[in-house]
Amino acid sequence: MGMGLALALLFLIDTATRYEVAVSVFYTVVIVAMAHVLALRGLMVLTGSCIALTWLSFFITRYGDLRAGQINMLISTVAILITGYLACRAELARAAAHEAQARLLRISRIHSLEGLTTSIAHELNQPLAAIVTSGHACQRWMEQDPPNLDKARQALLRILGDADRASAIIGRVRKLSKGEPASPRPFVFNAAVREVLALSQAEIQRLDIAMRADLAAGLPLALADPVQVQQVIANLVLNAMEATALVDIARRTILVESLQLQDKLVFRVSDGGPGLPAGAQEQVFEPFWTTKHEGIGVGLSISRSIVESNGGHIWAEPHLQGGAVFAFSVPVAPQEGLA
Ligand code: ADP
Repeated sequence: MGMGLALALLFLIDTATRYEVAVSVFYTVVIVAMAHVLALRGLMVLTGSCIALTWLSFFITRYGDLRAGQINMLISTVAILITGYLACRAELARAAAHEAQARLLRISRIHSLEGLTTSIAHELNQPLAAIVTSGHACQRWMEQDPPNLDKARQALLRILGDADRASAIIGRVRKLSKGEPASPRPFVFNAAVREVLALSQAEIQRLDIAMRADLAAGLPLALADPVQVQQVIANLVLNAMEATALVDIARRTILVESLQLQDKLVFRVSDGGPGLPAGAQEQVFEPFWTTKHEGIGVGLSISRSIVESNGGHIWAEPHLQGGAVFAFSVPVAPQEGLA
């Protein structure tokens, strides 16, 4: 709306004034102003429109020195082109940064079963296929008349070897699913929260969510594994964002809080999304419990095991104004320091 008005105004002034007055160069201001608002395609269209309007004004204008008009038109065209190009590059860089942030935010989902099952299947496939081949070979040696026991024994040994490999792979997967042990150390709880919020900023803006952070001042240090705690925070914030994205823009609110409850520090996120289904407050932490089409339902169960292995608790609370509230606690570090 504002952009259209600005373009129309510039076009009118440019057309009404003499050739010597290079009003069209001010189209660059419109491009710069819209650089953060429009996506790549929009910026390209805007740049093209500004050039078209510049040329149109030139052909309509009847007053002044034609030569000066030609030079002004060329200078304006080049200036608009350069500005448009720079704005597009900035937009591309912004989109790449946004993509990187979104990817980072999903770190907590690295454990996603999708990737895990593919690699397990891939690794297991080889020894299993080898077992089948050796099994067929063994059968053939045995069916010979007389049976070639020596060859059959060799095939059996190969089968045992491959079965061992398969079982070692399963052993490794088991260890993996238990996760890395927590390595707790004292850290500034609010700083960890702020870092995750900063990462999610671009996505919050893209989804038009109004996010408020109410972090208690003067908190003592937390004692937990800060990376794991950030994974849990990211997961809860991501869930809140996904939930709020389902409702009208007016209800897209997220409140993030930190506070101290006795010897625990608490992180709480309340969203204005559709809320949890009745009676699902406990179930949501069960593995594979999901209501999302593309969900796996392991985020909250992994979050629970992380929080518990760090000496805390995680829970869902009913939200009085609708929406959902998730919170978790971690222990306060014995040696006091200020956040
Ligand atoms: P996933 O996100 O893959 O479904 P999660 O374990 O993170 O797995 O979440 C499990 C389920 O809990 C979700 O499918 C959703 O139904 C519910 N849930 C989690 N967070 C929220 C929230 N903020 N609002 C409403 N429902 C939620």
